[in-house]
Amino acid sequence: MTPSTTTQQIFSGQRRKMIEEQLVERDINHLGVLEVMSRLPRHLFVPDYLQHKAYGEHPLPIGHHQTISHPYAQARMTQALNLTGEERILEIGTGSGYQTAVLAELGAQVFTIERIKPLGQKAKTLLGHLGYTNINYRFCDGTYGWRDMGPYDAILFAAGAPEVPKALVEQLATGGRLVGPAGENGSQKLILLTRTESGIHREELGDCNFVPLIGKFGWPTGRGADVAG
Ligand code: SAM
Repeated sequence: MTPSTTTQQIFSGQRRKMIEEQLVERDINHLGVLEVMSRLPRHLFVPDYLQHKAYGEHPLPIGHHQTISHPYAQARMTQALNLTGEERILEIGTGSGYQTAVLAELGAQVFTIERIKPLGQKAKTLLGHLGYTNINYRFCDGTYGWRDMGPYDAILFAAGAPEVPKALVEQLATGGRLVGPAGENGSQKLILLTRTESGIHREELGDCNFVPLIGKFGWPTGRGADVAG
C-alpha cells in the first residue's frame, strides 16, 4: 500500500466521522448535502499544514484573516436552501471555495463573488482542477450582488452582515431562498428569507458567528476579521 493510499484512507475515515458526529447527530438530514460532503476532499481547501484538521468541528484559517467555516455551519446553510439541482445560485464570500463546490454539486449554476482577489483566484484554480464547469467567478464587493445574472433561486452569503443586504434580497426570484448570518459580531443569527408571491417570509435559524461581510451593504472596511465561521 502506498503512503498516499494510506493518507486517502485516513481522510476518508475523517470525512465519515465528520458526517456522522457533526452533521447527522445534529439536524442535517438533506440527503444531497450529506452525500456531497461525504465525498468532497475538504482537506484540499485548507492550507497544507492544516490538512490533518480539515474535517474537525471548527473553522480554519485560509489566509488574509479569513476562514473556511466549520462543516456544520456550511451544511446547515446549504440544507436551508433546499436545493434540487435546477437552481441558479448566488454565493457571496467564495473564501476557500469549499462551500462553492457543495453548491455547484447541488444546483445548476453558481455565481460566486469574493472581495479578496488572491483568495478568490486560488479557489477558482482549485475548483477548475477539480473539474467544475458550472461556476462563474467575480472578485469585488458582493454586497451589491450580481444583478446582470439574476434573479437567483438561491442566495447564500457566508460572512456576517449588520442586516441582510437589501441588494441581495432584490435579486431573489419568487420562490427563491436566501440564507446568511446577520447581526453584531459575536451574536449573529442565521437568517432564512423566502420570497413568495405575497412577499418576503423571514425565519431565524439560530445563533452563529462569522467573519464580517465588508462592503457597501455590509460593514465598513477596517473592521477586523474575527475567528469565527
Ligand atoms: N464559505 C467559505 C469557504 O467555504 O471557505 C468561507 C467564507 S469566509 C467565512 C467569508 C468570506 O467572505 C471571506 O473570504 C471574505 O473575504 C468574504 N467576504 C467578506 N465580505 C465580502 C464581500 N462584500 N464580498 C465578497 N466577499 C466578501
